[in-house]
Amino acid sequence: MMHLPHISFRSRLLISMLIPVFLIQCFSIAHEVLDHKEVFLTALEQERDLMLRFTAAALAQPMHHEDPVQIQTLIRDILAEGRVAQVQVFDASGAEIFAQQTPGYSPAADDLQASQRITYTGSNQTHDLGYLQIALPISVMAEPLHTAVLSHLTISTLVLMAIALIITLALSHLSRPLGEITQTLTAMRNGNFDGVIPGRERRDEIGLIAQALHQLHEKDSELAELRAQDNESARRESKRIRRALQSTRDGVVLADETGKVVLCNPNGELFFGDAQIGRQLNLKSWLPADLAAQTETHIRNNESFAFEATTTHNLSGHELNLLVRGGPIRDERGSYLGSMLLASDHSDQARQAERVRFLAEHDSLTGLPNRRLMEQTLATWLQQEGEEVSVLLADLDHFKQINDTLGHPAGDALLQVVAHRFESCASTYVMAARLGGDEFAILVKGADSQDRLNNIANRLVAEMAQPQEVAGQVLHTGMSAGIATLSGPQAQPSEGIRRADLALYEAKRGGRGMVEIFHETLETEINRKSLLEGELRRALAQGDLRPVFQVQTDLTSGEVIGFETLARWHHRQLGTVSPAEFIPIAEDCGLIRELTYQMMTQAFRAAARWHEAGFQGRVAVNLSPKLFGAQVDEFVNDCLFETNCPASAIEAEITETVVLASGQSALREIQALQELGVTVALDDFGMGYSSLSYLQKFPVDKIKVDAAFVSKLPESEETRAIVGAIAELGHALGMRVTGEGAETDAHRQLLKACGVDYLQGYFDGPPLTERAATARLFPSQGLPLKRQG
Ligand code: C2E
Ligand code: CA
Ligand code: CA
Repeated sequence: MMHLPHISFRSRLLISMLIPVFLIQCFSIAHEVLDHKEVFLTALEQERDLMLRFTAAALAQPMHHEDPVQIQTLIRDILAEGRVAQVQVFDASGAEIFAQQTPGYSPAADDLQASQRITYTGSNQTHDLGYLQIALPISVMAEPLHTAVLSHLTISTLVLMAIALIITLALSHLSRPLGEITQTLTAMRNGNFDGVIPGRERRDEIGLIAQALHQLHEKDSELAELRAQDNESARRESKRIRRALQSTRDGVVLADETGKVVLCNPNGELFFGDAQIGRQLNLKSWLPADLAAQTETHIRNNESFAFEATTTHNLSGHELNLLVRGGPIRDERGSYLGSMLLASDHSDQARQAERVRFLAEHDSLTGLPNRRLMEQTLATWLQQEGEEVSVLLADLDHFKQINDTLGHPAGDALLQVVAHRFESCASTYVMAARLGGDEFAILVKGADSQDRLNNIANRLVAEMAQPQEVAGQVLHTGMSAGIATLSGPQAQPSEGIRRADLALYEAKRGGRGMVEIFHETLETEINRKSLLEGELRRALAQGDLRPVFQVQTDLTSGEVIGFETLARWHHRQLGTVSPAEFIPIAEDCGLIRELTYQMMTQAFRAAARWHEAGFQGRVAVNLSPKLFGAQVDEFVNDCLFETNCPASAIEAEITETVVLASGQSALREIQALQELGVTVALDDFGMGYSSLSYLQKFPVDKIKVDAAFVSKLPESEETRAIVGAIAELGHALGMRVTGEGAETDAHRQLLKACGVDYLQGYFDGPPLTERAATARLFPSQGLPLKRQG
């Protein structure tokens, strides 16, 4: 575009008005000049003709008289006076006779020339004397014409100036408000408008312009205000989006249609390799080649996509678990604008899930796999290997006692030591686990798994038989283990565990500190056990169990000093079941309290009746170790109250396992029983762990020497010595001593020789029903005493 010089409106108006005026003036001057020229020419021609006529008349005489001097004088005068520049006189024949011109004159074509015949009239006769020719130079007109033009020009110029002045003044008056409006507009444009639009009060077009401008300004201000509001909200909107993108934990990248990154938030830069605004989106910089290629195909095909990817954090170098989603961005008409990638970091969740999974599958105290993981692994190995897997279950001996007497921290420390030993066995083919409490497990897979596991088990059991130094204390514990082997994918993991558990049970029953391998007869034993459990439950509910009473006599006087209550169960199909079989079942299945309650109430009622009838002795009841630790003294006392039986008619038989398993709390319960008035007898003495030195610790009233000693008395000198020592020590501690299982008179005499006080055994008779026992007690009365209520 051509750049035009800035010419003000006033100048343009001035120019446009002055040019016509100027042209008119020019035209008028030209017209005047021409006019003047005409006038001058006419005047000159008149002057020429006059001169010609006058000169021709003046020359007629001298020519007639042929007076040359006169002629020349005349011609000289003419040339001197007027404006004639050349005079020529010709005779009648046409020959020039005189010619004269003013000095410096040179004839020109447009000079005003004229000629006249010279005639002389005399005596009524006219004589042609020749002719006169004069010339007036046109240049004589120049000077007056010049003067005239000059004066005209001067006047015209003055008029023009006057007109210009007037126009300028008029225009100035007109254009000032326009100029002001222009300035206002400029100020508006430049943003320094003071708000006042001049000329609004005017009643002319300028006033209208000013008014329109004012309205425009008002509207513009409103628009600007609206725009400002719009801009503000747009600014806030974009700030919000920017902040959201900056603070989101997700990585966000937008690329345009050429694949150039146009937006990338901070996490985007950390997640998506070398992604940065302005660069080409480069999937290969953070994705494995195949996944990158796949994603590129999706982007090319305008498809959405989602996948999980593992990549590295650009700053920390940590592994990231990303959930990546993306797809094309289209406008409302569906045209492709670019693509978007969004990735959320699931690493924390993945780590958390990993931790949760670990916690769910591991024991929190020892860090060993827990039962769940062990069972899962067993199932997996059976499926995988298709061959044998051996399962070991183990538990610690006397763990409860350690926990109770030394406290849980000591118990926990022991478990950690054991866990450490188990863990040291673990390998690709061996898994160690803690199942809970003091139960541990080991799985071994592959050929010979049972032999390998048996070796491991024997080593562990031997190790655990040694005193364990735990947290500065030496603990005596032990371990029993059971092993079972499964093979093939059809094998049930739960069955393997059940069998190993049966073997463990057997190991414990067989005397602890042993490893037992599952065998089929174990199964039948277990089956019988579970059958008996159900039947015992029913028998107790129906009151099928009955007490029998075995008499106890004084070795010296032969007097009945008491009875021991023994439980009897006669099952209709199974026949008589020995208490040696059903008592452990009752203990294991939580039926022992109910069984004891039924025996005690019946025995106490009998004892109360016998007591009332004058019997001075005591009726003994067996209290299982399982009853201790749960206020067995209150249990006994409640039964005494219920049966209205005096405590002085009752004795409680306990075994040393009571004190071994329950520690101090059992001793307190024993004392509480004695405070009730119940005497306490230590049953099966000499078996298990008991030693003579233990006696001091047991605050009992009576010792019952185990039948195993009694049966050996006749042939074993050593046994006689032991029984003698027991009796002596017992007496020294203020206790009475009973010999159990005395079947013969020899037994009786030997026991007596050993210093034993009382006797119980088949020599005196088998256990009796209440009726028979009553008959034995009160033979003269012949009838049992049955009380009401
Ligand atoms: P125990 O307390 O040692 O009871 C004595 C056992 O020796 C009884 O066996 C009795 O019948 C048996 N016996 C008595 N005299 C002789 C004899 O001269 N020779 C032989 N070889 N044995 C004799 P039983 O009744 O089979 O009881 C076995 C065990 O079952 C008892 O041993 C006792 O520990 C337990 N028991 C029995 N009834 C109860 C009960 O009601 N409660 C609890 N907790 N245990 C009971
Ligand atoms: Ca007993
Ligand atoms: Ca006994």
